[in-house]
This record gives sequence, C-alpha cells and structure tokens, in this order.
Amino acid sequence: MKVSIVGGGPAGLYLAILLRKANPGTEVEVLERNAPDATFGFGVVFSEETLGSLRDADPETHLAITDTFVRWNRVDIRYRGQVLRSRGHSFSAIARKRLLELLQERCRALDVELRFGVEVETLPESDLVVGADGANSFVRRHRDFGTKVEPEGCKYVWFGTDLVFDAFTFVFRETEHGLFNVHAYPYDEHMSTFIVECPEEAWRAAGLDALDEDESRAFCEHLFANDLRGRELFTNRSLWLDFPKVTNRIWHDGRLVLLGDAAHTAHFSIGSGTKLAMEDSIALAQALVRRGWNVEAALVDYELERGPAVERTQAAASESAAFFGRVSAYTHLEPPQFAFNLLTRSGRITHASLAIRDPDFTRALDSWLGGSDVCPPPLFAPLELNGVRFPDRVSFALSSFVAVSVEGRITPQTPTIDEWTPAPHGLVVLQLGHAGARGACRPQAVGVDLPLRDGWPLVSASAVPYGPFSGVPDVLDEAGMADVRESFVRAAKRAAELGIAVLELDLAHGYLLGSFLSPLTNPEKDRLRFPLEVVDAMRAVWPRALAVRLSVTDRHPRGNSVDDGIAIARALSEHGVDLIHVEAGQTVHDDRPEYGRGFLTALSDRVRNEVRIPTLVRGHLTTLDDANTIVGAGRADLCILDLRPSPLESEPREPSNTVLLSGQTSKKSGLGAK
Ligand SMILES: Cc1cc2nc3c(=O)[nH]c(=O)nc-3n(C[C@H](O)[C@H](O)[C@H](O)COP(=O)(O)OP(=O)(O)OC[C@H]3O[C@@H](n4cnc5c(N)ncnc54)[C@H](O)[C@@H]3O)c2cc1C
Repeated sequence: MKVSIVGGGPAGLYLAILLRKANPGTEVEVLERNAPDATFGFGVVFSEETLGSLRDADPETHLAITDTFVRWNRVDIRYRGQVLRSRGHSFSAIARKRLLELLQERCRALDVELRFGVEVETLPESDLVVGADGANSFVRRHRDFGTKVEPEGCKYVWFGTDLVFDAFTFVFRETEHGLFNVHAYPYDEHMSTFIVECPEEAWRAAGLDALDEDESRAFCEHLFANDLRGRELFTNRSLWLDFPKVTNRIWHDGRLVLLGDAAHTAHFSIGSGTKLAMEDSIALAQALVRRGWNVEAALVDYELERGPAVERTQAAASESAAFFGRVSAYTHLEPPQFAFNLLTRSGRITHASLAIRDPDFTRALDSWLGGSDVCPPPLFAPLELNGVRFPDRVSFALSSFVAVSVEGRITPQTPTIDEWTPAPHGLVVLQLGHAGARGACRPQAVGVDLPLRDGWPLVSASAVPYGPFSGVPDVLDEAGMADVRESFVRAAKRAAELGIAVLELDLAHGYLLGSFLSPLTNPEKDRLRFPLEVVDAMRAVWPRALAVRLSVTDRHPRGNSVDDGIAIARALSEHGVDLIHVEAGQTVHDDRPEYGRGFLTALSDRVRNEVRIPTLVRGHLTTLDDANTIVGAGRADLCILDLRPSPLESEPREPSNTVLLSGQTSKKSGLGAK
C-alpha cells in the first residue's frame, strides 16, 4: 500500500510517523513545497496539557515534544492600566520550527520518504492521498467536499519578540483609531509569540492597510512599547490577515481524505489548531489499522470519529473569535467582570470550574459584584432596577402570558388581566400581551397554533396569517391601535392596583406588538412607531420597572437580523424601558430555529453590552453554574433556569422561575460601573 501525504505540517508529518509505525510495510511519502527548515509564524500554544492521546499513539514523539515544552499556568489580562492575573490554567508551547524538526527526525527514523521543495500540482496515483496541505488546501479543490471558507474575527498579524512573557498575556489598548489587543505567550527560553489583533475599521483608520511589513511592525512596537519593555518585534512573513474558518461537509471522497487545517480550522485565540490536526492523524491511523487497511471503511470511521469533536472545538473557537471581534463593546465593564468575561468567552471555563482552578479570582469577582469582602456567587447578588430590588438573579416569578383584553387571548384558557391574580409570594414580573395573529387558538396541549372552530376576529400589523392553519387577521387600523394602546394602559393601572413589581410588555414571538416590528409581517417603513407608542403610553402610567420581551432576531433570511434587533432594543431603551427579556424567532411559523444549551445567551450578551441595558435570559439554562457564569460575566442580569420540565409556552403557568433563594443586601446593579 502506498500513501501520499500532501503537506509536511504537523498533521502530515505525524500521520506519516503513525502509519509507518503501525505497518512498516506501508510506503509513505510526504510532499512539502517548502524546505525542511522553512516555517512561518513563531510558537504554537497547546491550551490544555491533556496530550494523553499523543503519548499513547507514539511515546517517542510525545516525549520529544513535551521535553521541549515551555509550560505555565497563568493568564494575565492587561486592561485599563491594571493587570488581572488568573492562575490554575494549563498551557504549554513550542516553537513551530522545533515541532516540525522533531516530527521530521522521527519520520526519518521510521523511513518515511520526505520530499521537500515539491509543489504538488497533480494528485499522486497512490492508494490513499491525504490532503494535509493546510487551510488553503490544493487537494480539497479536486472534489466537492462542500467546503466553506469564511473570514472569522478581526485582522491579525503574527510577530515574535525576545521578551519572554511569564503568562499567557492579553493586552487591550485603546487608541484614537479603535481598540487593539495582543495575545502573547512564551514558546522557548528566549522568545514569545506576539499576535496583534484589531477590528478592520481600526486597522484602516490607523492606515495599516497602506503600511508594509516593517512599517506595521514599527507601528505595533510603538503602540505596545510598555508591554514589550523596550524589546523588539520580529517579523516572519508577518502580514495582516483575516483568519479563515474552514469547514467541509465531507472529509473524504474515494481515495482522497482531508486532515488538519485542510479539513477544519479553529481560531488561534483558543490555541487548538495543532492539537486538532495531530488528533486527526491519530484517528486516521487507528481507523486504518482497525479496518485492516481497507481505505474506504477506515475513512468513514475517521470522519465519524473526528467530526463531532472538531465541531465542538470549532464552536468554542468561533465564540472566542466573536468575543475578540466585539471586544470594544465590553470596555464599559469593570476590570473583574471584563476579565471573567474574557476567561469564559468560549464556554469551556465556567464560574464553578474557575473556582476550582483559581478560587482567589472568583472570590474577587463575587465580592466586586456582591459589594462586600465575603460574598456568595454572582446569582445571589441583588439587583436594583428602577426602584425595584431583586434579592438575587433567579428567584423572581415570571407570570404566563396575560392578555390585556378578551380579544387579545391566545386560547380561551389564557387569563385576561381582569381575571388574573399574582402568585402569593415572591417578586412578580407580569407579562402583558395581545396575541394578535396567534390568537383564537386551541389549547397548546392539543397542538401549537391550531385555530378554534369558533374563535374570535384576529388583528395584526398585516393580513399575513401566522401559521398554515391560522385565520387571516384584519389589519389593525388607527382606531384599533388606539383601542389596543388603551387596553395596555388599563392593564398597567390594574397591575399597579395588584401591587405588581415589574411589568413586561410582550413584543416577541409574532404576537400583536411583535408583528409590527418584523418586515415579515409589517410592510410599513416605520415599524417601531406603534410599539413605541404603546411603550410611551405605559411608561406614562407605570413608574416602576418596565421590561420588554423581544425577539432580537427573526431567525429568517428576510426578517430582522441581530443587528436590527439591537437597534430596536436601543430605541426601547431610549423610550424608558428598563430591561430586555431576550427571545429569538417565532415571529413567523417557518423560521430557522436553533435550540441548544444556552441558545439565547450570546444574544443577551450582545444586547446588554452593545445597548448597555440590563437583560433577562433563559434558553435551556439548567444549572446554577450557568447563572453564575452568565451574571458574573455580564452577559445578562437575570436568568430563568429550566430546573424542571418547562410547561408549554404561552399556556397558563405560575410561576416560571421557581428557585426561591435568599438574597443579599448590597445594591449593585451589575451593569457596568461599580
Ligand atoms: C496566527 C496563528 C496562530 C496560531 N496559533 C496556534 C497556536 O498557538 N496553537 C495551535 O495549536 N495552533 C495555532 N495555529 C494553528 C496551527 O498553525 C494550524 O492549525 C496547524 O499548523 C495545522 O497543521 P496542518 O499540518 O494541518 O497544516 P499546516 O501547518 O498549514 O501545514 C500545511 C503544509 O502543507 C504545505 N503545502 C500546502 N500546499 C502544498 C502543495 N500544493 N504542495 C506541497 N506542499 C503544500 C505547506 O507548505 C505547509 O507546510 C495558529 C494559526 C495562526 C494562523
């Protein structure tokens, strides 16, 4: 059997080692365009020490690599003139050049045929051809692998420096052009990698698009002179680039298979690309051995094994890239919260796991949020919202949908404000709405959005029915709008008589007010006019905390995008809304939902930090650690936990958030300044 590997990076070389080791009868060649000692970039970091799979696959290589590793356990975050240090992490790094040398040496010892200076331009005629030729793979272009290459994150440039950092160091520096940041880490006893990153607008504003390699080096050296303590930056093809996020629908076709960056990339900010590439090599070699060198069966196994693991890492890497893309939105956060947000950005570290790694760090965060020296975790920090004091972040009682009028009910079982009575204890948030085109339905236990035989007339922003079986609504005219507005005002007055603490106006999920916001259900230009009139009218009679439940995106290609939703949230904030209850989709029945653990958290994070308004979030949050992490990081202010099977949406339910916890006494809002 002959295997040709195109590309002599970590993936290709390591596969060659493992194949020759598994079966010395296999002929293995590696075709690499560069010379053996040419490499671009500086050091690569492995973000977890768990390289156990490498040890089991080939102890000699594992030993050679780990013997060379620089190791450290600290992360330093330099922000607003402070250095925040978090301990207990596990990093190791190696010069890329050294890594390749070690792999080449081991290849030679195992009689791999290494052919350098070979630019592969036609596919070799071997039994198996491996595309280990990087993110811009040549092999990949020979078949339809369903490849997508999308730019991810910011502009970045990779330098080296002879300052040896003693921690994984993030630097954030405000400039007149925008925010620049650095990822720096040591990779041997003399050198560190120094990656500079900034949004494209800042890059252009600073004129970096017009500078050559040396000029941009000088720019960065000057900007980060303090952090470099007078040391130099070194270049090695250090050009400003966009990180390419590579995904492939399939990873093999016939005798061709993709490996490492050719198959998938993971944004450099989580330091996983090399590890993923080498784990691919292990999985492919093991599949070939297991399948008795039956290429077809082995490639199926390989893809099945690696696909889900890679998908998880890519999702975390994308979260991390997105964090750095929008990091300037977080610069209102105080240093402890900013640093915690950074550490938890990819979802792989939580409050609970950090409390084990670095209890001092979480203690400092908790006491900053709770307002005294010794404090319980973030969800126990009280919150003041327009005169209403939440004793903690989860124990309020959110009512079911309560209709402002009989015609505004969803089903005959939906309570109207005249019938509804609050829960006997706890802080009550009353959700008020008008069902609009989603009214006059049978109970949801029978089926969602199924109309009653003899319902009542429906109204909406347009004559678009909600679902395939829904009735056609009448378009709400000006007189109808005045009536609806009045019914919301009347309901607010009734809520005041009932002693309710917080009112929540329903602008989500395609109900009446939500139907006005979306281009899918409202052809008018000024889609905010009527919902804002209702907000203003309620604000005039309701002095306490006013929340709005908002579908931040329609999750539909022709509907409101997240950016549109953020603009709507901003307008609501300007009209005196105190809290956004973040929702998504359901504006129309055929949206493209994405439901997963914490599926609304990223939306809440954007609304809260871009609009700078407190938010309430739910979305399959099942543990107290979820709430601690979200609140601690400033991604939301209040959480709804799914601690029991949730009742059907929009059916009467009392109360939805039932964890009753004792509160604290400080008055910290948690949004922004201490
Ligand atoms: C700025 C930056 C920082 C990074 N930092 C880290 C980090 O800290 N930690 C980490 O784990 N990962 C990091 N990565 C990612 C890491 O570099 C890659 O994930 C890893 O190198 C992938 O290995 P590979 O063998 O699949 O591809 P590559 O390393 O890209 O190797 C592909 C090889 O194929 C060769 N080749 C391509 N086309 C041809 C052809 N037609 N003929 C012959 N040869 C060809 C190339 O010359 C190259 O040597 C970083 C990436 C970037 C961009």
